[in-house]
Amino acid sequence: MPSRQSSALDFDSLRPPSPFMGETHQAWRDSLRRFIERELMPFVTEWDEAEYVPREVFKKAGAFGLLGAGYPEQYGGWSEGFDRFHGIVTSEELARIGAGGVSTALMVHGIGLPPILAIGTDEMKERIAPSVLRGEVQISLAITEPDAGSDVANISTRAERHGDHYIVNGSKMFITGGMTSHWATTAVRTGGDGAGGISLLLIDLNAKGVTRTPLKKQGWWASDTAALYFEDVEAPVDHLIGGLGQGFAGIMRNFNSERLGMASGATASARVCIEDAAQWAQQRRTFGKRLADHQVIRHKIAEMVQRVNATTAYLEHCAWRVQRGETPVMDLCLLKVQATQTLEFCAREATQIMGGAGYMRGSRIERIYREVRVNAIGGGSEEIMRDLAARQLGL
Ligand SMILES: Cc1cc2nc3c(=O)[nH]c(=O)nc-3n(C[C@H](O)[C@H](O)[C@H](O)COP(=O)(O)OP(=O)(O)OC[C@H]3O[C@@H](n4cnc5c(N)ncnc54)[C@H](O)[C@@H]3O)c2cc1C
Repeated sequence: MPSRQSSALDFDSLRPPSPFMGETHQAWRDSLRRFIERELMPFVTEWDEAEYVPREVFKKAGAFGLLGAGYPEQYGGWSEGFDRFHGIVTSEELARIGAGGVSTALMVHGIGLPPILAIGTDEMKERIAPSVLRGEVQISLAITEPDAGSDVANISTRAERHGDHYIVNGSKMFITGGMTSHWATTAVRTGGDGAGGISLLLIDLNAKGVTRTPLKKQGWWASDTAALYFEDVEAPVDHLIGGLGQGFAGIMRNFNSERLGMASGATASARVCIEDAAQWAQQRRTFGKRLADHQVIRHKIAEMVQRVNATTAYLEHCAWRVQRGETPVMDLCLLKVQATQTLEFCAREATQIMGGAGYMRGSRIERIYREVRVNAIGGGSEEIMRDLAARQLGL
């Protein structure tokens, strides 16, 4: 059988046309892509291996407008005309780098800052947000503890009020940016047991009594992860984010947008897997023909496209509902599972198609393969997402 012609199955041609995206989304994509190709892509392997993204890069991302995309103008962001689909474009272009650690490091404020902007005081917003969006200062989100991960309502880090300060004692685990952040939006227990006793407190990670320990991990190397220990750490009472005992609600609201963002990134990473595997399959020859001429390989690629396109449709439908003011908790949970399982499938198949080359360090596929599990665990694990969805269904 003669070989078929090679076709340009690339990241853009693989994306189904979207009824929700217009000229402004394309303009943002083009501009962001130029920035990423110039300032990030040439260096990602070096940063990933060094487990570090230089602070200068944060400042460049701030000056370009990446860090402030979707944030209020008054704090140095830009949100005029920015909708959920511009947010999806941001996630997709960052995923195209094929180094989740780099984008996680750069965008950690995406989980640490929103609670402050949603329920913090004006003074706190003005003090924290502009320097974070300029990339000078970094803010993490610290919820997980050694004995409380999925079971958020069970955290035990305590904040006791003494005059005009809280005194914080306890520890946090697996905190993204924990080694390099200046601030942490931290879940603390200010009341009794359960969700109602939790508040959010802004903690200065350079304060006396804070100890940080770096943690080594399977993937996301460029993004540092830390265990944080608080021993009689002082935080002024005006560092309370939202009302006393309102922390759990603040955390849950944050999770909804984090899950949409993670689903966008995971779906786009799955598309990267198809791009690299399809290009490889059209060049690599075995048994006298291209890999792409072996039916089993063609079917692998077709199934990857099938799953990614179905996930993209679900993603865009969820984003459309959020955009019009709904909070589709059940679908956001199931979407996260759908997207991360699609990523898991595509990372596996792409690595398989690339053979030994896909297992070598320095390629997008090899890094993405190592990032599959953190996507399926972080921001709400598969099991917890399904359980939450089942509860929303009234089961
Ligand atoms: C790289 C990385 C970065 C992270 N960054 C942050 C961060 O910035 N801030 C932060 O606060 N946290 C962060 N996390 C923590 C993350 O949110 C937690 O790992 C996650 O919530 C799961 O908690 P856990 O690891 O304690 O697992 P556990 O809660 O102990 O669960 C272990 C396993 O049991 C399953 N399980 C638990 N309960 C049930 C149940 N009721 N029914 C069925 N199965 C169940 C879980 O799904 C999971 O598979 C990060 C984690 C990683 C790996």
